[in-house]
Amino acid sequence: MKCYLCKLEGKDTDAVASCIVCGMGVCMDHVVREEIDHWEGGYPFPATKLKKTIPRMLCKPCYNALMGGKK
Ligand SMILES: [Zn+2]
Ligand SMILES: [Zn+2]
Repeated sequence: MKCYLCKLEGKDTDAVASCIVCGMGVCMDHVVREEIDHWEGGYPFPATKLKKTIPRMLCKPCYNALMGGKK
């Protein structure tokens, strides 16, 4: 799979992950790795809700859309 965002810029970069929201392939430059506890209210140490944080791979447009709604 190739990075969709790079493809838009005319580059041809191999994707390292796919966005969990829209499913498009993203390279290291365009991926955002977010821990789910940040989505649950932004507590630095999630003591009760989750034992472990769950990493999520997002593309930048989806990350901006999700985080933009929270801030
Ligand atoms: Zn890219
Ligand atoms: Zn996405």
